[in-house]
Amino acid sequence: MHHWQPDPNGPSPRPNGLRPAVFFDRDGVVNACPGPGSYVLSWEQFTFNEGIIEALKLCRQRGYLTVLATSQQGVGKGLMSAAQLEEIHQRMQDHLRIHGAAFDCVKACTCLQSSPDCTCRKPSPEMLLQAAEECGIDLNRSLVIGDAPRDIVMGRNAGLPCSIRILGTKNEQEHPPATYQLHGTAGLPALLAELLHEQRDPSHP
Ligand SMILES: [Mg+2]
Repeated sequence: MHHWQPDPNGPSPRPNGLRPAVFFDRDGVVNACPGPGSYVLSWEQFTFNEGIIEALKLCRQRGYLTVLATSQQGVGKGLMSAAQLEEIHQRMQDHLRIHGAAFDCVKACTCLQSSPDCTCRKPSPEMLLQAAEECGIDLNRSLVIGDAPRDIVMGRNAGLPCSIRILGTKNEQEHPPATYQLHGTAGLPALLAELLHEQRDPSHP
């Protein structure tokens, strides 16, 4: 494990006006993993993981944008509709907003793994690149948090310098090295408090 310092000299000048972001995987990071081959099909099945609301709030307080990048193949499989997925995300955002922790951007790949036309499925960096374009994100100062190898590879494919792997929900032996590893999400706020330097940007709430 090596240490990554996003900005050792404090807030850096941003001649391009771009802001750094923290990209979050959903199942297994933001909410409890529904289990292999299972999907969260309704808001009632959605349970926030320990520390995640605090972590999201901290990102925003430090001036980082927050982006959800999730694979929801259950839509492609016909297990839920795009509208049902949208409702889950709206209710998630409603709950997070109460705590000042709502995501700035939500991206979902709903394609089947087998779809030959899909270009967005992880580890494709497409969702991250789209969010960067839409929200003005500086990928060179951003990081990704995920529990699956494909999350870490996606971050690398998008050129992110830092990744945090949440261990404990996926047991793949072979996985690309993440910059940091945590057992569960409870320690995430403390790690992010070390890593994220305050970005002084008055336009950010
Ligand atoms: Mg996951």
